[in-house]
Amino acid sequence: MEDVERKFVTNIRLNVRNQNCNVLLKGIFDRVDKIGNTIRIIDYKTGKVNQWDLNLRDWENLIDDAKFDKCFQLLFYSYIYWKSNDTDIFNVTPGIISFRNLKQGLLSIGLPKKENFSQDTILQFENILKAILLDMLDAEVAYSQTSEEENCKYCTFKSICNRN
Ligand code: SF4
Repeated sequence: MEDVERKFVTNIRLNVRNQNCNVLLKGIFDRVDKIGNTIRIIDYKTGKVNQWDLNLRDWENLIDDAKFDKCFQLLFYSYIYWKSNDTDIFNVTPGIISFRNLKQGLLSIGLPKKENFSQDTILQFENILKAILLDMLDAEVAYSQTSEEENCKYCTFKSICNRN
């Protein structure tokens, strides 16, 4: 056992319209353990999660499809872990244990084109994360409601965004 309920923190530097920004990133991981040489970053879910919920078809899914929020979370945690531990990302496996689907054990993220989880995965995710943060921090980019109303079903903010 390595850790339970531990907070990991790192930062990311961005340049937003010629202004340097330092964005703090943090996550509280339910469990980090080690099996052999593999570090497992585990998130527990009380609801039912199936393997197909974690199979990314395309990297763009992380930006435009809220159904993949669990994939985003696992990649985000892996990114924070990698940055804050200076670890060899090849030995990290992020996954979910679903209390309503315990028989499936640890559900791991499935990457586009069945890529293996590697340092390239994390660097790919870093590009996506930077693009999202740049949009969020750029005062010239207006927020607007999504045109994909399907996304609203899973959105944490639907109670405050006045979406009908
Ligand atoms: S509920 Fe609002 S904030 Fe959430 S996805 Fe829909 S439009 Fe966006």
